[in-house]
Amino acid sequence: MFWTYPTTSPAHFSNLGVSLIFRLGLTGIARCRTSNIMTTTNCCAQCGVAGCASLKTCKSCMEAKYCDATCQRNHWPMHKQDCKLRAAELRDEALFKDPPAKEDCPICFLPMPGKILSCVTLPPATISSVPINYFADAHQELANLTTETYYSCCGKSICGGCVHSFHESGNLKCPFCNADRNKTVEEQVEDNMKRVEANDPPSICLLAYCCYKGLNGVQQDHVKAKELYVRAADLGFNKAHYHLGMLYHEGGNLKKARFHFEAAAMLGDELARNNLGSIEFESGNMERAVTHWTIGASGGDYLAMHKLKICFGKDYASRVSIDSTLAAYNSSCAEMRSEARDSYIRFNLETM
Ligand SMILES: [Zn+2]
Ligand SMILES: [Zn+2]
Ligand SMILES: [Zn+2]
Ligand SMILES: [Zn+2]
Repeated sequence: MFWTYPTTSPAHFSNLGVSLIFRLGLTGIARCRTSNIMTTTNCCAQCGVAGCASLKTCKSCMEAKYCDATCQRNHWPMHKQDCKLRAAELRDEALFKDPPAKEDCPICFLPMPGKILSCVTLPPATISSVPINYFADAHQELANLTTETYYSCCGKSICGGCVHSFHESGNLKCPFCNADRNKTVEEQVEDNMKRVEANDPPSICLLAYCCYKGLNGVQQDHVKAKELYVRAADLGFNKAHYHLGMLYHEGGNLKKARFHFEAAAMLGDELARNNLGSIEFESGNMERAVTHWTIGASGGDYLAMHKLKICFGKDYASRVSIDSTLAAYNSSCAEMRSEARDSYIRFNLETM
């Protein structure tokens, strides 16, 4: 488990939302942004010259069109407010739509759970019959259990259930390239470096993590760690955005933290969405917090389900919506469950 892909279970932050719920007085509700800006036309928004193919669309709102940069610049004082509103609406549309499907484990072809907890289905009851502390108490020990292991030889992530099955059967070779998995940490770091040179995002992200923490013989260097995260994030790797969100949050830059968590969440990162819920909660934006947690819980995020349960207890979520979210949660969990994963969970519970 030493050279395991960091499953990014920042207990201190993931649990933040829960403590915030207890701690914070709640103020304000999310405002619905509307704007009655320009309808799409084929005229320049500044000079009104009618459409030719060369009209350029404003990259923020994707609506206003201009002959050229001069028309756009001249129109900006008038356009600015509408443009910003529409850009925020567009971002929210992207943020709150269904996230992409989880990647499958390349061995068992089941969706990879964000947390192994997601493989534990809850009783198919309505939420009102589930005791308030059920979620937390029942699975606390499992909260930080690793979900997947990253094979640096092949750059593939394999679910805990499959890795556990290999170990049970005494097979310590990589199922893809047959490489010996009994390598020293130095050899594994060397493997990973080759993949970093080949620009493999998970490997870059893993190196960044080691760099940040000073792990596995990698010298601790926060500046370099951040550069590596940015490099992986630029390649569209959700976990790199998640880690950048964490770095900025720790540094107190909420704006940038939010930006990276949102980017990660739109790419399907469960923990990032969970943290966004906490940030919105902290900012008093209850509706947005509940929406994030509902999306997360529907996809099988245990922590999000837990936080929603608390919201329900405090009247921030309706019984109808939370019951339907619990049903969605259970069906997502059921899809991720297997005999091997159950066995992996049992093994960990026995040896904890
Ligand atoms: Zn013009
Ligand atoms: Zn615009
Ligand atoms: Zn698997
Ligand atoms: Zn391999």
